[in-house]
Amino acid sequence: MPRRPGQWLVLLRAALVVAAVVVVGVTDFPSSYVPWAWAAVGFFAVVTVLSAALSATELGRAARVRARALLIALDAVVAVGFISVLSYQTGEPYRALYLIPIAEAALRFGLVGGLVSGAVMTGSTIAIDAIGPGLQWRTAFARVLVGVLSGLVIGRLRDTINAERSRVEARAAEAERLRDELGHRVDVLETANRCARALGSSLELDEAFGAFIRELRALVPFERTAIVLLEDGTATTMATAGRGAGEVFPPGNSDPVEGSVLERVLGGKIVVRRDLSRREFPSDDRLLALGLQSELVAPLQLGARTIGMIGLSRERIDAFSEDEVELVALLGRLVATAVQNIRAYEAERRRVEELARLSQLRADFVSLVSHELRSPMAAVIGAARTLQDRWRMLSAAQRESFLALIGDETSRLAALVGDVLDTSRIEAGTFSYRLEEVELGRVVDEAVEAAALAQQEVPVVVSVRGGLPTIRGDRARLRQVLGNLIENAVKYSPEGGEVRVSAVTANGAIRIAVRDAGPGIPRDQQIRIFEKFGRVDVPGASKPGTGLGLFIARSIAEAHGGSLDVSSGVEPGATFTLTLPVGG
Ligand code: ADP
Repeated sequence: MPRRPGQWLVLLRAALVVAAVVVVGVTDFPSSYVPWAWAAVGFFAVVTVLSAALSATELGRAARVRARALLIALDAVVAVGFISVLSYQTGEPYRALYLIPIAEAALRFGLVGGLVSGAVMTGSTIAIDAIGPGLQWRTAFARVLVGVLSGLVIGRLRDTINAERSRVEARAAEAERLRDELGHRVDVLETANRCARALGSSLELDEAFGAFIRELRALVPFERTAIVLLEDGTATTMATAGRGAGEVFPPGNSDPVEGSVLERVLGGKIVVRRDLSRREFPSDDRLLALGLQSELVAPLQLGARTIGMIGLSRERIDAFSEDEVELVALLGRLVATAVQNIRAYEAERRRVEELARLSQLRADFVSLVSHELRSPMAAVIGAARTLQDRWRMLSAAQRESFLALIGDETSRLAALVGDVLDTSRIEAGTFSYRLEEVELGRVVDEAVEAAALAQQEVPVVVSVRGGLPTIRGDRARLRQVLGNLIENAVKYSPEGGEVRVSAVTANGAIRIAVRDAGPGIPRDQQIRIFEKFGRVDVPGASKPGTGLGLFIARSIAEAHGGSLDVSSGVEPGATFTLTLPVGG
């Protein structure tokens, strides 16, 4: 089946050629007209073959228009030919053939085509009449009227239909464009949604960023991306992906904000850098070295606050479209919200852990203090009762030993209460010092002697190199610190294990070290023992104590401008080092 109007016209012409053969065959022409009549049929047949050939040929738009005009002109010649050969008699009905080229031209070329061919065809029939059977003005007028009107009406109709068709086509194209755009937006929204879900998929920043970057790749392709957060006034890289991810500004890298691209986005504006070779920022050289030429940097925006930036780089110059700029700005806000949520969660978790730790410390303290108070108290009460009830029955030596026990235990109690009081004063900031000139060498000797006198199981030896200078400080408090360190060393040493106290002066500081041969202190507990109530848990081997001594000792050392530290693990036992500045 023919599909195009041109193909229909070829078929129609072919049918008409057959009809013309029949008509010419049966018509009784005057003998001089017969050759002309067959010539007209032959010409018509040639035109039909030509039209078939043209219709089968693929032509460009302009050539097609020219071919159509040619065929209409040839059809007009055919029509004029037939009208002429049939004009040997007046009132010939085939004269109406002149309307066919008019209709054809009007259909093909609209109003203009209709009017032009109307004028040509009616003019031709009038000329034929004038030459042949003679012109009748009434008939000629009617023919002009019908010819021009046909051209006008058909041409106008065709123009209207064409205009309508163009409008419908334009609307269809617009609808298609809108559908595509809508589809694209839905895709973008879905991917943005996936990005948001990826950001919320973990409460660890690193993991959340990793998942986000994986989704981002599908949404806005990039050769390199980096997420940078503003931390304590520096630009800290949190995550990178793509070119040079592990080498150029890798995660954990910190740079000053001043003069960086982050400073530019801090105002909340997105920065599109079409050509990095203009080298506006120090980072540009390194990005260029990776073959990157353009960059899109969006702020991580929380309300009016910028907490960092997300940067995407590509190897082409001016590689980011407006849609992408808008999208990355939106992603910047998503990332900022995720960062805020994760940080809030982390802060909350730390607080809860700290509260739990404090609450545990308090519970430990209550049980410790009650335990530490109860046992000496029970001993004192027991000894006092025995003395009271059996005074006469006891020998003088037995009385002495009970009284000594009462003395020792009350001293322990007094020391314990003293530690608790000191701690609360340190915390309240009312722990006072009485400053004087202190001969440290003597203080060390006294503390060592006292420890040696108090027990015989653990020998305490002292070595002071080159004597110790005098410093300005609180003698009693410094003695308390050294007493505590040596007491601990003795307490945690096995029987016979030596405690060595050494002191040196170097680089404007006096360093007094107390070393023992005890179990030492695990590295992960070394911070804890200086905290209030901080003790090392050694199941089955714990010694009595409150965990306040080292807290107080470090506070005293720091109040003197010095420090107190521990080292343990390299050699057996633990070494506590008290450092005091000579200037004091
Ligand atoms: P206390 O000895 O009263 O518990 P301290 O504050 O003096 O309190 O010591 C805190 C903790 O540090 C102790 O409970 C103990 O676990 C640990 N410690 C202190 N000195 C030593 C030491 N020389 N060897 C091993 N552990 C020690």
